Amino acid sequence: MHDFRSDTVTRPTPAMRQAMAEAEVGDDVLEVDPTVAKLQEEAAQLFGREAALFVPSGSMGNQIAARLHARSGEEVALGDGSHSFDWEMGALAALSGLQARPLPAPRGRVDVEAARAALRPAPAGHRPACRLLIVENTHNFHGGAVVPLDHLQALRSVCRERDAALHLDGARLWNAAAATGTPLPAYGAVADSLMVCLSKGLCAPVGSLLIGDRELVERARHVRKLFGGGMRQVGVLAAPARIALAEMRGRLGDDHARAARLAAGLQRLSGVTLPLGAPDTNIVFAAFAGRPASELVAALERNQVRAIATGPATIRFVTHHGVGDEGVDAALAALESALAA
Ligand SMILES: *Cc1c(COP(=O)(O)O)cnc(C)c1O
Repeated sequence: MHDFRSDTVTRPTPAMRQAMAEAEVGDDVLEVDPTVAKLQEEAAQLFGREAALFVPSGSMGNQIAARLHARSGEEVALGDGSHSFDWEMGALAALSGLQARPLPAPRGRVDVEAARAALRPAPAGHRPACRLLIVENTHNFHGGAVVPLDHLQALRSVCRERDAALHLDGARLWNAAAATGTPLPAYGAVADSLMVCLSKGLCAPVGSLLIGDRELVERARHVRKLFGGGMRQVGVLAAPARIALAEMRGRLGDDHARAARLAAGLQRLSGVTLPLGAPDTNIVFAAFAGRPASELVAALERNQVRAIATGPATIRFVTHHGVGDEGVDAALAALESALAA
């Protein structure tokens, strides 16, 4: 199967399996797992920050950050279509009593003036305080779009001006860095907290990191326990995560090249358009005129290709370590014959 459903389907590499088997472990809730400690130090250093915390999922990392930066009854501003708004089970409200305020964010770039208007250091009239802006980079449902560093810096200044925090949902920040050459410490410097995923393009089986200053990460450890995310001999997961950080970032350019080739091939098929344009990174959305996406997904499946219908006429393809050039060829050939039938 050529599985384009998501980069979350990537499997741990043989080197990761080996490292899991040999990992030194301890009880990480007691903070004595040496492998977790190494992972956290290495991650903090990569971003030029003081500390990092290993968390079971990206969603938990984002939710811990929200809990730390805002209080129950307050508002959190974020871009429309963002993961923390649409894809985290309403956790801002359910776990932390926060109200989400979606802002226009073309290509994932949260509108600077809209952010200035939404962020509010204290309640005003009957409006609650809004002390946190969450920015997603790359932006998943805006087609893996890269939010450029200068745009993040502009949002950072607005947050400073409005006494609000900036949290970067960097589930695929590695892809943004690979596509633009932006050094990771530049991202570290622009946000109060960052969440990065190890379990997507970097192929680790499980886990994400929440990164920031020492004080924030200490408080994050308590919230992680509150949310049920304290883990015991979790060095077995930190070991492959260390390999992900050290060895897997360099290959993301291959995923981007395959996404570009897939997009170019899709564009040549009649009745197919790319509503979000050519991909910046590893995510391609294709729109199909005159043929339901569900039918095309079924045709792909019969040809050993998997992808997700994200709407009645759109399909999302994500490239990753588990799909090669032959996967791209198979997807294009299957769609071409399905559309011709
Ligand atoms: C995948 C993802 C997350 C976190 O997902 P988990 O499945 O909880 O690890 C957060 N933000 C974005 C943009 C994502 O794509």
